[in-house]
Formats: sequence, C-alpha cells, structure tokens
Amino acid sequence: DVSRMKSYIDRPSLTADGVQVELAGNIGGIDDLEKVLANGADGIGLFRTEFLYMGRSTFPSEEEQYSVYKHVLEKMNGKRVVIRTLDIGGDKELSYMQLPQEMNPFLGLRAIRLCLDREELFRTQLRALLRASAHGKLGIMFPMISILSELREAKRILDEERVRLVQQGVVVSSEFEIGIMIETPAAALAADLLAQEVDFFSIGTNDLIQYTMAADRMNESVSYLYQPHHPVILRIIQLVIQAADRHGKWVGMCGEMAGDASAIPLLLGFGLHEFSMSASSVLPARELLSRLSRQEWSRLAVQTLNMSSQSEVLDFVNDQLRSEA
Ligand code: PEP
Ligand code: MG
Repeated sequence: DVSRMKSYIDRPSLTADGVQVELAGNIGGIDDLEKVLANGADGIGLFRTEFLYMGRSTFPSEEEQYSVYKHVLEKMNGKRVVIRTLDIGGDKELSYMQLPQEMNPFLGLRAIRLCLDREELFRTQLRALLRASAHGKLGIMFPMISILSELREAKRILDEERVRLVQQGVVVSSEFEIGIMIETPAAALAADLLAQEVDFFSIGTNDLIQYTMAADRMNESVSYLYQPHHPVILRIIQLVIQAADRHGKWVGMCGEMAGDASAIPLLLGFGLHEFSMSASSVLPARELLSRLSRQEWSRLAVQTLNMSSQSEVLDFVNDQLRSEA
C-alpha cells in the first residue's frame, strides 16, 4: 500500500542480509528530476541527453547544455549522476541533422559511432559535461560501444577537451567517472578488456536483448524473441558482472529490466551493484530488496543459467518469491 511504500523514501537500499546496492532513476531531462527526488532515488543512473537535442530546430549550444547538466548535478546534491553522451540514430532522428538513409538504422551510424563521425558535435557536449563536473558527482557514459578502439577514441577526445579547458583556467573535477553502456554482444564478450579502461559499466538491456536475439525491438512480428529472462540473456549479464568484478569496477543496469520485480532477485544474485529505472519503480524495488537475501539469491540465480526457456526461469523466480512471502 501507498503509505507503506512511502516509508521507504529515506531508507538505504538494503537487502534482508544487509547488502547495500544503489537504486537510481532514469531521466530524459530536467522535467523528470522532481519525480526522481520525490521517490528517494540514490542517484541518476541514466540521463538520456538526446532529449535535449530533439523537438527543436538547432543543436543545443555548449552553454545551454552546461546549464542543464549543472542543474541536475546540483539538484542531486552529491549523489551520483550518470550522463550518457548523445544516443541519436537508430529510431531517433533530428530534423535539423542530415543523416544518411540506412537499410538497418539500428545497425548503422548511431550513438558513439555517430559522435566519432561528427566530432565537433561530440566535443561540444563533452566540454559542457567537463565544465559541469565541478558541480557534483558525475559519471560520463558512452553508448553503443562495440569495440575497444571506439572507447579509446572517445576517451582520447574527452581528454583533449579536458586538457584544453584546464589550460584555459576552467575548473574541471578530477573525480568524474568514465563508463560505457554494455548493449552489444561484442562489448559483453569483451567486457574483461573494456573493464580495464573504464570506471563502470551500465548494462543497456533494451538494446542488448535486441542485438543478442537479432530481433528489432520495434518490430511486433518478432517481439516473442524479446525475452529479458531468457537464460541466454542471463548468461550474458552474468558474464559482464563477473568481468567488472574481477577488475574492481562497479556495474549497473539502466534498461527496463533493472526495474522489473521478477528480474531484480536474479540481478541481485549475480552481483549487480546499481539498478537504474523509471522513478515510479524505485520504491517498489527498495521494498522488494528489503525482503531478499543476496546470499540466497546468488545460489538461486546460477541455477537459472542452465534452464531451457524464459518461462522456466519466470516460474522458478515466482515460486521462490511466493515461498518467501
Ligand atoms: C538500453 O538500450 O537498455 C538503454 C537504456 O538505452 P535506450 O533505451 O535509450 O536505447
Ligand atoms: Mg540503448
């Protein structure tokens, strides 16, 4: 009930056996901030900055972006804010930006690929982020990384801008974190290599499921393949978490799956550190978490990896949750 849920607003995100995780919110702009704060989120795990670029007729300036990022960081008052660099292309277009017509936009020039191709666009956003880093606890996150060289190139450009700003006397935090989304099977399989060159991962299951299943997430005809609880997806998630753990990096998830009550126990069991979701899911997730033992779920979660279907996994999780209630 509502008032019982509300009582979780100020509580830490703790499991029944005392393990602390982070329950963060996803936002698309300043308008979503109030809801994240009102639901007691531990931070922002995904700020989809493409919304700053959409529904207008020109690119947002460095100044305009800086003031938005600064505002979000200040409002979050020291809690971590992960801001994702521009993820345009695929299904998201800008009316004022000429992009090539592509046969398969989701496999084409989107996100980091586009940013590395249109470097000035990317540099403008990075400068805004670097300047904003002085106003809170910032994580800069690159979307759609497939291979190591993309990450290295993005980091090289980021560092060039950082050095230039510092030379100009601009204050840039020395403590911002750099992370990547894991949303391609290539990145998941290379997670051990990528982990050595970032501070964190955030698993983007919306795309990771689409690319792993080779099933367009917008196409209803193949939506039966969109199975977050399929053992194949769970295996790939576990692989990523283990790789991050081995290199001492934290790993979160910001796809829809992170707020799903029947996925949270498994993700907890695999050792996920941060769960980022829509604001309205934060309190139900915190309440659920308070009833789960991580030790117990780490034992249970591995059992699902050898199951043969999503429905088998779901029945297993729901039976466990029922027997615990
Ligand atoms: C994802 O792919 O899971 C994700 C969070 O990114 P988006 O939904 O914006 O593509
Ligand atoms: Mg994505």
